[in-house]
Amino acid sequence: MTAPADWAALDARYVWHPYTQHATAPLPVPVVRAEGARIHTADGRVLVDAISSWWVTLHGHAHPVIAHAIAEQARTLDQVIFAGCTHEPAARLAAELVAVMPPGLTRVFFSDDGSTAVEVAVKAALQFWRNRGEARPLIAAVEHAYHGDTFGAMSVSARGTFTDAFADRLWAVERLPDPTEGDTVAALRALIDHRGTELAAVIVEPLLLGSGGMRMWPEHTLRALAECCAKAHVLLIADEVLTGFGRTGPLFACARAGVAPDIMCLSKGLTGGALPLGATVTTEPIFEGFRSQDRRQTLFHGHSYTANPVACAAGRASLTLLDADSGRRREVIESAHREHLARLAPHPRVRRTRVLGTVAAFDIDGEEGYLSAVGGELAAFALRNGVLLRPLGNVVYVLPPYCTTADDLAVVYRVIERFLEWR
Ligand SMILES: *Cc1c(COP(=O)(O)O)cnc(C)c1O
Repeated sequence: MTAPADWAALDARYVWHPYTQHATAPLPVPVVRAEGARIHTADGRVLVDAISSWWVTLHGHAHPVIAHAIAEQARTLDQVIFAGCTHEPAARLAAELVAVMPPGLTRVFFSDDGSTAVEVAVKAALQFWRNRGEARPLIAAVEHAYHGDTFGAMSVSARGTFTDAFADRLWAVERLPDPTEGDTVAALRALIDHRGTELAAVIVEPLLLGSGGMRMWPEHTLRALAECCAKAHVLLIADEVLTGFGRTGPLFACARAGVAPDIMCLSKGLTGGALPLGATVTTEPIFEGFRSQDRRQTLFHGHSYTANPVACAAGRASLTLLDADSGRRREVIESAHREHLARLAPHPRVRRTRVLGTVAAFDIDGEEGYLSAVGGELAAFALRNGVLLRPLGNVVYVLPPYCTTADDLAVVYRVIERFLEWR
């Protein structure tokens, strides 16, 4: 083992970090350990992880049940090709996922992360219609959507800062208004009236546009979109990569709205946040649409680590932890969010306070958008005061692991309040 100072220098010399402008970014926080809601740094600081380490850590860091499952599985079967082979962790995880899914979602296609779960969903939707001999080349997606960073996922995501460098290489989608701003349902109805028989699928982030600014939208809108899709035989893809596994309260945002989509994308919390894993869950009719004596009707998609047994074991362990106690913890988090935001709301710099389950957000008045400087200033201030935050520009959010206590959240909100006073 090298001393922290040594390996931090190696990082500076050899590593390229995600979403990081290396010319201006502060040095990365050297982390040596994490437990529960806390991250321990090489220089002895302890940080409250108020963003679930980029929205993945579900129950808390280094949960012993998940750690045990990973260790056992790693000693038993670490990895095996998933085309032509199968294994118990994947088969059982698929069955256990289907058991908690909205009705009708019965087939699980594993992949590596959220972006690949979206790629699989979009490819499956497009090829489903092609296999049937129907020409449905269009996909509709929402303004301010974020579905990942690979090219297909970028194509269905909003055009903007993240995609500008590739704008001329992204395929066109039918764009519906952001439901927090416009009439998404009317726009979908108009699109269906006009080109409904050409529309393969509509993709949405149910109830919460995450990276697009933690924009929360109503359940009745999701229900109306689902009804439009069902009537026109258009597939509804629910990207629950962020909202899945209790983030919005119930296990899935679709369940909260009483909606059963045709395809659901999962990742982030799927393994409790311990290992990367993605899943695209479809209905039986979609799966049936690929069964054929004609091998060209195969879904030709797969990744080297598809259904990695260790990740699947972590996923199974994480599911067992989503019990009644977890539900109570999520309620405690939601009511703490509401209390603190009610206190913050009258502040002259605070706009649009909002809560959806365990996710809370507000905007800081001033320059808007992802490149707004205030986000970095708050992140730096929070770090100096023992809290890990990563605002989306001027949008501040608190998205904690479920082990986070009311006392932990009081610390987080106190730091945010002090920043608003100080600056
Ligand atoms: C994070 C996210 C993705 C992409 O997931 P990655 O694991 O980062 O590839 C896709 N969709 C939504 C809604 C997300 O929040």
